[in-house]
Amino acid sequence: MNSRRSFIKNIAFALPALSLAEILLASSCSKSADKKHVKRIGIIGAGISGLQVAYLLKLQNQFDLEILEASDNIGGRIQSLNNNQFSSANNIELGAQFAYGNTNNAWYDMISKYNPINTDAYKAKAYVIDETIKSESTLSSDADFVKVNKIINSTYGYASNDVSIEQFMMNNNVPERVKFIYQNNMETCSGGSMDRVSLLMANEEGLKNRQQDQYRLKNTNFTEVLTKQYSSVLTKVRNNTVVKEIEYSGDVVKVKDQNGLVRIYDKLIVTVPLSILKDGDIKFSPELPKAKHEAMEMLGMDAGIRVILKVKTKFWPNDTTVLYSGGDAGIFNIEKDSDNNYLLSSMIVGKTAEKMNNRSEANVLSDIQADFTTAFGADAANSIVDSKVVFWSDMPYIKGTYSYQKVGGSMANREALAKAIDQKIFFAGEATNAKGNSGSIHGALETASRVTDEVLGSF
Ligand SMILES: Cc1cc2nc3c(=O)[nH]c(=O)nc-3n(C[C@H](O)[C@H](O)[C@H](O)COP(=O)(O)OP(=O)(O)OC[C@H]3O[C@@H](n4cnc5c(N)ncnc54)[C@H](O)[C@@H]3O)c2cc1C
Repeated sequence: MNSRRSFIKNIAFALPALSLAEILLASSCSKSADKKHVKRIGIIGAGISGLQVAYLLKLQNQFDLEILEASDNIGGRIQSLNNNQFSSANNIELGAQFAYGNTNNAWYDMISKYNPINTDAYKAKAYVIDETIKSESTLSSDADFVKVNKIINSTYGYASNDVSIEQFMMNNNVPERVKFIYQNNMETCSGGSMDRVSLLMANEEGLKNRQQDQYRLKNTNFTEVLTKQYSSVLTKVRNNTVVKEIEYSGDVVKVKDQNGLVRIYDKLIVTVPLSILKDGDIKFSPELPKAKHEAMEMLGMDAGIRVILKVKTKFWPNDTTVLYSGGDAGIFNIEKDSDNNYLLSSMIVGKTAEKMNNRSEANVLSDIQADFTTAFGADAANSIVDSKVVFWSDMPYIKGTYSYQKVGGSMANREALAKAIDQKIFFAGEATNAKGNSGSIHGALETASRVTDEVLGSF
């Protein structure tokens, strides 16, 4: 009893934020000490996979749950812009912005009650080629354009020896003037730099699907959906709690945060992004198994920048929904808000993003303005009236976009990453999706279902 008292005293002293009930619960988590104790489950990360695991486990009504989240918000890579001074639109997404498709898509199912609309984004494309803007319909006699699209299609269906996506582009002699179309497509879909991403991944992980049906919400945003969907578990989220160490050598799992506070759980579910695990931002003791390190070596997660421009005057062909700008900012999706502003949203990925990461938001904008001036003239550059730039790799608890397989990688790496340790530590999150849906919201949700079954089966 004495040691228990001093344990409580030490913790309470160090961390006044813990309630006495929590401290007592934490201190009574040894299975041998009390077989009837409520099982305590910790979840690291309040992105969609962490929230979904908590939601599913809460339905069991038999666990004490806690979600430790490093940042001061929820959603992880789902973050909506909450600023009606920027635009009257309430659906501006700074991270993930689409549900890819409406079948076998748990995210689509979740947002379906909010009337998602198919943006038909890729149906009306325009391209800046040879410094001139052209709609797709006028390019059917451009042999280079036809060729690059053919090669894009064969990339998605490739199933032979693995090389990088860039190597495949070079092997197929994609003409210089349309290379950016290939690069923009592949890097936005895979989330990684062309010279690092496995060509086989394009097929195996269905990258093509990320460019087909894309559903968005019109009158609400993804963060609001999360807040409603997960209202029953939001009180379980401990924000501003950065997990630093996980010790799992004994019966229970001990989790230490940035303040030195130790929480004790029977089971722990880790949902942090791949980049956090790869960089060793969380120290595991004992060290993670070698197989996990080997798997992580074969997976990558690169830099990414979301750029949103508010534009007053249209400088593209009528009805264009997607604009290949030919510049650093890549592909823009175009929408209109109720004040007749155009909202142009792009995602810069890979080496271009790495290069731009060292620049300020203002510098990134002036780079884009310079590109626009070259491609569309000075009026176009001047018609940008506001902008938002989010450097995802600078987010200390995200550090990039989404995971991809490196050349020579395979789904076995995702399986190894997903594998539970000692029936005590479980892994979810998009990078652990070995069913072909990594790098997506629905893929992250699938891992939450998998891990919930694993946890329930482990008692
Ligand atoms: C710019 C961008 C655009 C995208 N576009 C789309 C799209 O259109 N459609 C789509 O389906 N998907 C898209 N994605 C991918 C999608 O957002 C992700 O696959 C999904 O949201 C990942 O969810 P997750 O729960 O696995 O991880 P995350 O959302 O990253 O959640 C992990 C959580 O762990 C927390 N964390 C990290 N370290 C610690 C720590 N030490 N202690 C405690 N907490 C920690 C993080 O703060 C974070 O909240 C996009 C992603 C980005 C970045």
